[in-house]
Amino acid sequence: MTRIVTGMLLTFGASAADYLHEPQGAVVIGDDGRILWRGARQALPEAWRAAPVDDHGDCLILPGFIDVHIHFPQYRMLAAPGKDLLDWLSRFTFPEEARYGDVSYAEAAAEKFLDRLIVNGTTSAMVFSSVHNQCAGALFAAALKRRMAILTGKTMMDRDVPQAVRDTAEAGGRDSEVLYQTWHRRDRLRYVVSPRFAVTSSEAQLRVSAELMQALPDALMQTHLSESQGELARIRELYPNDTDYTDVYDRFGLLGERSVFAHGIHLSERECKRLSETGSSVAHCPTSNMFLGSGLMSMAHLGKPPRPVGLGLGTDVGGGTSYSMLATMGAAYKVQMLTGYRPTALELFHMATRRNAEVLRLADEVGSLDSGKWADIVVIDPKATDVLASRQELSQSLEDMLFALAILGDDRAIRATYVAGRKIHERRVT
Ligand SMILES: [Zn+2]
Repeated sequence: MTRIVTGMLLTFGASAADYLHEPQGAVVIGDDGRILWRGARQALPEAWRAAPVDDHGDCLILPGFIDVHIHFPQYRMLAAPGKDLLDWLSRFTFPEEARYGDVSYAEAAAEKFLDRLIVNGTTSAMVFSSVHNQCAGALFAAALKRRMAILTGKTMMDRDVPQAVRDTAEAGGRDSEVLYQTWHRRDRLRYVVSPRFAVTSSEAQLRVSAELMQALPDALMQTHLSESQGELARIRELYPNDTDYTDVYDRFGLLGERSVFAHGIHLSERECKRLSETGSSVAHCPTSNMFLGSGLMSMAHLGKPPRPVGLGLGTDVGGGTSYSMLATMGAAYKVQMLTGYRPTALELFHMATRRNAEVLRLADEVGSLDSGKWADIVVIDPKATDVLASRQELSQSLEDMLFALAILGDDRAIRATYVAGRKIHERRVT
C-alpha cells in the first residue's frame, strides 16, 4: 500500500553544497518499496492525499545511513584493548572470528549485527565476514529477510593467521565464486571479493582476488591499506620489491572503481595519485583509527586536487568503537581538526549518505530521496536527549543543527528506520 512519511526532508545531490532541505516535507512510498515522490507537504499531489501518513513532526527525514566499512564477526568485540593493529588482530580478533566456523553461532550473530545497524539508522553496509563460507552465507540470508542492501563476501586469509581462520588461495577463490553465484544480486545483495590485506594474503591469493574481479564483472573488492606503522613495516618485509603498500595491490591489478580500501592513513603523494587515477576509493574510519592509535587520516591530503582520492566514511566496528554513523561523523570532525581541516556538518552528512552510496556503486538505488530510489529512510530527532534539546535551542541554521547532531548524537537520536519502504525500527520514546 502507498504510504507517506512526513517530517523535515534533507537529501543530497552530487556534492555537499547540492542539497534539498524541506522543513515540512513528504516522501511518498509505493507498494514496491521505492520512492514515488518527495517535496513540500503542501505540494503533495492530489492522488496521494488520502494515503496513510507516518507523521514524524519536526524530525529529520534522511536517506538511510550507509557504512562503507564494518566487520560482522567483530560485532561483540568492541573495546578490545590491543597494543596496535597487529596485536589486536592476533590477541582478540582472530580467536573471535574463529567461532564463525559454527553455522548456528554465525546465524544468531547475523541477526544481532543487522539489528544494531538498523537501530543506528544504517540501512546499507559493505561488510567483512570471517574466512568461513557459512559466515557470509548467514549474513546474506539475514539481510535478505530484511530486504537490506548488504554487500559482503568471505574473507580470504592464507598466511600468518591461526589455522581456524585460514584458507588457501585455491579454496578461497573457489568458495568466493560459489558464494557469488548463490547470493550476488539476490534481491538487493551484492558480493564483495574480500582479501583481508596484503599481510595475511599471499601473492598467490592476491592473484586469485584479481582473477575473481575479472571473472565476476560487477562484484566489488574490499581490503585494508596503510592503517598502522607496524603493518607498513611488515609490508616492507613481505614485499621488498614494491615501491610502497599501494603498489602491492596495484601490481596485481586490484586498484579500480570497484575497489574500496579501508583507512589509507599513511599514503604518499604517489599513492594518492595512483588511487585517484584508477578511481579507487578509501574508507575513512575515524573511531577505529583513534582507538587503535593507527594515526590521523587527512581528508584534505587525500582529497587534494588535481588527484583527489574518492572518500567514504565507515565505522570499522569492532576496531571502531561505535555503530553510529552520527558518532562516526563526530569522530571524523575531531580527527580532521587535528590534521588542520574543518569539515562542515553538511559535508559529513553528505558523506554518510550520497557519497557512501557512490563509493559502493549503489547511487542509482539508494543514498538520496529521489523518486525511483529504494525508500531506505532514517528518521532523526534533533532534540533526542536533554543535552541535544538544550543545544538545539541555540541552533541558528540547518548546518548548526546538523553539527550538534554529529557531535552529540548516537542511536538515541534515531527515531525510526525504514528499509525498502517498510518501517523496521521505531524507538520507544519514554
Ligand atoms: Zn577493517
